[in-house]
Amino acid sequence: MSKLNLDNNFCLEILNNDTNNKAVSDIKKLKLSEIRKKGVLLLKINFSFLNKTDYKKILRKLLKIKNIICNKKVEIGIKDGNKTLLGYVLNYNETKKEQNDFLNAVNAIFYNNRYEMYNYIYDNVCDYLDGFFYGKNYCDFKNNKCGEKINTSSNIGCCRHYKNKLLGPLLPNNFTPCEYLKEDHTCSAKCLGCKLFTCDYLRKKGIRFKMKDILLLDVFFNPLQKYYIKVKVFTPKEKILKRLMILY
Ligand code: SF4
Ligand code: SF4
Repeated sequence: MSKLNLDNNFCLEILNNDTNNKAVSDIKKLKLSEIRKKGVLLLKINFSFLNKTDYKKILRKLLKIKNIICNKKVEIGIKDGNKTLLGYVLNYNETKKEQNDFLNAVNAIFYNNRYEMYNYIYDNVCDYLDGFFYGKNYCDFKNNKCGEKINTSSNIGCCRHYKNKLLGPLLPNNFTPCEYLKEDHTCSAKCLGCKLFTCDYLRKKGIRFKMKDILLLDVFFNPLQKYYIKVKVFTPKEKILKRLMILY
């Protein structure tokens, strides 16, 4: 028996055998009326009975129920020392990315407000993408020239944009480095759109990120928000988060 710490002082207990705690609600069959009758939302997450294709549906329902019960007399979890036990997890395999993604999404749901939830999702996806690229040089940088821009003047990969956006490629030498590019060639903006971007060179290598393949983005954002994240390159995190709140 071990504990999995979540944010906001919540935790989950990992069990080897099923629980006989009558207060639990199976995350797969959540019913608001039953949760209200029990007076508590205490989850049972049994990965043996969860199909990856149902994750999105289950998580959206959990979010909806959590938002409703926040205004009713229903407890979220039960006290467990100085933490709040949110539920039990069975047949958890910590090496399976999809199971960890599912639990990260549960974690996201129990943030106190939408901005904090978006902030968590944003950071989590950025960390995933940074980790995906870290130390692998997929862009094949050599002497500051990446694979895609090898025959151009760019020695900063795709971290540059048109000086005159209106005339774009029609003007010669119309490029300027992105204002968020630091001297050490790192980015000060934490722009999710840029991290998700893959050029033809990377796509030919099979590297491409789709919103529907990243559970946290797929579950919690509507089509307009997803579009905004994708197209809003060269933009700092705080600005993107603010706009995501408006587009909700
Ligand atoms: S994503 Fe493409 S254009 Fe951008 S740095 Fe990598 S190889 Fe170059
Ligand atoms: S915002 Fe985008 S283009 Fe600008 S430095 Fe960061 S990653 Fe590069």
